[in-house]
Amino acid sequence: MVTIDGPAGAGKSTVAKRLARALGYRLLDTGAIYRAVALAARRADVAWTDGPALAGVAAALPIEFAFVGEVNHVHLGDEDVSAAIRTPEISSGASQVSAHPEVRTALLALQRRLAAGGGVVVEGRDTGTVVFPDAGAKFFLTASPAERARRRTAELTAAGRPADEAAVLAEIHERDGRDAGRAVAPMVPAEDAVHVDSTGKTLDQVVAELEAVVRARS
Ligand code: C5P
Repeated sequence: MVTIDGPAGAGKSTVAKRLARALGYRLLDTGAIYRAVALAARRADVAWTDGPALAGVAAALPIEFAFVGEVNHVHLGDEDVSAAIRTPEISSGASQVSAHPEVRTALLALQRRLAAGGGVVVEGRDTGTVVFPDAGAKFFLTASPAERARRRTAELTAAGRPADEAAVLAEIHERDGRDAGRAVAPMVPAEDAVHVDSTGKTLDQVVAELEAVVRARS
C-alpha cells in the first residue's frame, strides 16, 4: 500500500495514476469519494451542512472505480459520474462535506474496504496518517506555489478555461492557509512520509523517484 498526500496542484493525481500503472497497483482516489458524497447528497436533497444526514449518505454510497487507460472512472450505481463530480459546485461541496467528522468516520470503513487486499496507490488527505497508518510507503508531494500556479493555469487553459496565473497563485496561497489551519483533517504530512518536491522535475522523474522508494521497500 502506497499513500500520496500533498497540497493542491503538486501533481498528486497524475503521479498517483502513473505510479499505479508502473507498479501494477490499483488506484484509490479518495477525493473522488468526498466529491461523490457531495453529489449524492445534492441529489437526495441532503444539505452539505447536515453532518449526521451526510454520514448516512456516505455509509450507503454505491461507489465503484474503473481505472481504464489514463482515466479513473467513478461510478455511482450504474452511472458514470466522472464528469459530474468535477464541476466547481461539487468541488466546493466536497470540501464542505469533508469538514464533518461524521462523514470522515463513515468513509473510513469504505476506504479500507476499497483498498482491501493491498497493492493500491491511495491518493488524498489523511490517508497516510488516519486511514492507512500502516501503509508501506507514504509520500508527501509538494511543489513551490509558483510552480503549482503555473501548472494549474496551463491545465485550465488546456481545458478551454484560460486563467490568470496571478489570480491562481493567490487562490493557492489562500487554500494552503485554510487547509493547514483547519480543525478537521488539516494537511499534515505523516511523520514517516517521504517528502518529494516536484519543482523543476519532469513527471517521469517524479514517478521514477517514488517507484524506486516503493521497490526498495518491497
Ligand atoms: O482531491 P480532490 O480535489 O478531489 O478532493 C476534493 C475535496 O475532498 C478536497 O477539497 C478535500 O478537502 C477533500 N478531501 C479530504 N480528504 C481526502 C481527500 C479529499 O478531505 N482524503
